[in-house]
Amino acid sequence: MTDDPADRTLSPDEAFEVLGNETRVDILRALGGSDDPVTFSRLRERVGMTDSGRFNYHLDRLTGHFVRKGEDGYELRRAGERVVEAVLSGAVTDAPVLERTEIDQPCHYCGAPIAVRFREERVELYCTECAGTYAHTDPGGETCADADADDADDADYGYLGYHPLPPAGVADRDPEAVFRSAWVWGHLELLAASAGVCPRCSATLDRSTRVCEDHDPDAGLCGACGRRYAVAIDLECTNCIYDESGAAVVGLADSAHLVAFLLDNGLNPFAPTAETLPAIGRAYHNFDEEVVSTDPFEARVTFAAGEDELTLTVDSSLSVVDAERR
Ligand SMILES: [Zn+2]
Ligand SMILES: [Zn+2]
Ligand SMILES: [Zn+2]
Repeated sequence: MTDDPADRTLSPDEAFEVLGNETRVDILRALGGSDDPVTFSRLRERVGMTDSGRFNYHLDRLTGHFVRKGEDGYELRRAGERVVEAVLSGAVTDAPVLERTEIDQPCHYCGAPIAVRFREERVELYCTECAGTYAHTDPGGETCADADADDADDADYGYLGYHPLPPAGVADRDPEAVFRSAWVWGHLELLAASAGVCPRCSATLDRSTRVCEDHDPDAGLCGACGRRYAVAIDLECTNCIYDESGAAVVGLADSAHLVAFLLDNGLNPFAPTAETLPAIGRAYHNFDEEVVSTDPFEARVTFAAGEDELTLTVDSSLSVVDAERR
């Protein structure tokens, strides 16, 4: 079975060539709506193409990598399902708009209401009062915190970060529901990344930590690094273009200590409600950080939930070397 076309990988050029045709995408969508194999004539009917010869030509191009032909008819292979999922998620078609809107959720730092905005498959979060978590400009450059008030960059003042969300997540939801969905979706991605698995392609992530040596977050954000926290983790996929950085929590979200601590305090980060989300957000984003030594690197990160505290001592790969609850 080694000459089975289904076992052959398609180059990106070939894949785009095969998929760059409306009829073929229609065929994939028509197959995506069915659990059972679909016969040639039923499928042609669903796609609405009268010319049987032309239909056969297009179907033939998909058969192998994207579509499996069996005795009972045609069905999607996993690669075909992925294409249909991408189309239906809106990733390649829709661009819904959600302008910056204040919602009834507090900032993790100052308690003022936050605002959400959807842009390029991200739900961006902004505090309506404080400086937020990061400056939006380059580290070492002018930060938003000290940018001139009528500077265009000032629109990014209060930036708290973002959660990824496909366009389909915005449809039929109000801004608060968009925010909650984005949290759930982003949290799954965070868990994968934290465990060293690329959330886009599943390959291994390289991870490294860096510390701002001149950290001074007096006004909320540090003038030297543009961040609230001195410890930053960088994640880079060894296969695809995924590349993210964030504060220590990005490397600790998969820690059993942190998950158990949250659950014990009635905070379920996997299924947050409007009521629990503020406390979960505070635990994740408003932690205390103490750099014990830079060589070798050791830091203590303290999370709070209600009256309880969890202190994790971490090494240079942000692995937990000690955990203590109070
Ligand atoms: Zn704030
Ligand atoms: Zn700094
Ligand atoms: Zn990847």
